[in-house]
This record gives sequence, structure tokens and C-alpha cells, in this order.
Amino acid sequence: MMLSAMGVYSIGVDLGGTNLRVAAMTPDGQILEKLSSSTCYEHGPEGVVHDMVKVVRQVTEDIGRGELAGVGIGFPGFIDMESGVIVGSANLPGFTGFPIRDTIQEHLGTTIILENDANAAALGEKWLGAGKDVDDLVLITLGTGIGGGIVSGGKILRGFRGMAGEIGHMTVFPDGNPCGCGNCGCLEKHASASAIAAMAGMMGIATQRFSAREVYDLALAGNPRAKLVFESVGRALGIAIANLVSLFNFPLYLLSGGPLPAWDFFAPSMFTEIKKRSFTFDSTSTRVEKAVLGSDAGLYGAAYLPLQQHPLASVAIPSPR
Ligand SMILES: [Zn+2]
Repeated sequence: MMLSAMGVYSIGVDLGGTNLRVAAMTPDGQILEKLSSSTCYEHGPEGVVHDMVKVVRQVTEDIGRGELAGVGIGFPGFIDMESGVIVGSANLPGFTGFPIRDTIQEHLGTTIILENDANAAALGEKWLGAGKDVDDLVLITLGTGIGGGIVSGGKILRGFRGMAGEIGHMTVFPDGNPCGCGNCGCLEKHASASAIAAMAGMMGIATQRFSAREVYDLALAGNPRAKLVFESVGRALGIAIANLVSLFNFPLYLLSGGPLPAWDFFAPSMFTEIKKRSFTFDSTSTRVEKAVLGSDAGLYGAAYLPLQQHPLASVAIPSPR
């Protein structure tokens, strides 16, 4: 797609555990270019930044004209938003204490906006995905752990240290499974893909450790204990979502991640819990749905961040209402 000479665009970067994805986007959500590259973590954060800068430069050269609004980066960990320093990351431990924003800014000389990857995904779904028609939503991502992002009034709700939206560590069962965060009964210990596999093991469904996918296949084949695992996942999600609905009164709550195909197995118990525990849900047209952008949500959300701040770009963004 062509960009007019005066056109504004932005670049989103999704920094994953194994690869680096970059997309150049226009304010109305058209993809100008999308690239994927592997990252070399052996050389530490400097090596990753080097790779990232190289790919971003390649994209700006390819596009050649137009005005770059900035680069948004989705990072899998905690970020001190004020200083642009990584506070901690389970997937990229070598980044702790690294001043990633300023380092990249020095190389590229454009606006750099960092964001937690789950928050970026929530913003991506709001911009181009299942949340296009709303201004307020919560996204819950079911993976190895459970990530979450809250979009309020069209913007990411960060909290005072950028740590809001840790939905995976909400307590859903007071005496539940112990979690690495120090709590027990966290949502992610009862509803993540890893939790599904662990519960299948605890229920004696398999002698060796199963993946969530295999537990789903067993449920599809009619295994009653595998179905019980998903019923339990639905209960945990339902309790968490009922609390979110009562707290926020947002119109939309989205689920994404690997266990989503098992929706028909966990959704009935999930909705039973939500209805039972949230008057707000039961008395409004609140929706709980599947997210639609998959792993692209974080990439698009990252690209949207600089556009949200750009005076020329904001006029081109369609209003949701
Ligand atoms: Zn926890």
C-alpha cells in the first residue's frame, strides 16, 4: 500500500521471547509493512536493541516518505514508565535494570513509547479488533501465565507504577494452588494453559504431563475428567470476570490465548459463575467474548501508542461512537 508524502505512520514492535515482530501502520489501521525477525539474546539487551534498531531502520527506508509518529514497543515484563527502565521480566531476565527506552531513542531519534505486551494487546483489540465499537474493555490472555490489559476511555489504565491489569494474580480461590508471585489461588494457577496441563496431571488423567491441547483433545473425545478440568477453568474465569464486571461496569471483556478453542467446554461454567456473582452483568448487556486478533493484537497496539499522542494522526482515527 502507498503512503502519501505527507502521510503520518507509526511503527509497532512486539518483542517476544524468541522473535521480534515489526509493523508499520497508518492512523486508520492499514498495514504498510510487516516484518518478523529472530533476536539474538546471547548478546544481552544491547544485542536485542541492535537487532530492533536495524529492522526499524529497514522499515523506514522501505517506506521512504511520510512522517513517522514514533515507535511503540510491547515488552513482556514490568516497565517503569517514567524512566523507561525495565523493572523485571520472567521471559527476558537479562533486561532487568536496562534503560531500554533511552537506548533505542539515542539510536533512532524518534518518539519511543514502551508498554507491557498484555496492555498493548488490549489496546490493539480496542483499535482494530473485537473492541472496535467500545472505548472501555478488559483483555485476559491465557498462556503459560495469564496476562491482562485494561483500556479505559480509549487509553491503557496503567496504575501509578504501570503495574495495573495483573489479572492473572487476582485471587479466585482463597486456599488455591500456590503461585510464583507468593500468593495462592491466583487466576493463572487455575485457568492458564499451564494450569490446565497441571490439573490434568493432578486428576490422574495422564501419567506423563499433558499439554493443554492434549487435555482439550481428550475432552473432545468425551473424557469426563478432561471435561471437568475445563469446567473448573470456567469457574475460575467466571469468578475473576464477575469481579471485573462489578468493579468496572465496562461493556466488553475479551479472552485470548491457546485454550480459546476449548471455549465450548469452559464457557458454560464461566457464564454460570458470572451471572451468579455479578448483578451488574445480569442486569446489563455486558459482553464476554473471544478476542479476534490473536498474537497480532500486541503488535498493532504497540503501533497505536505513538498515534494516540500525535496531533496529526489523531484526527484520522475514527471515533468509536
Ligand atoms: Zn500469583
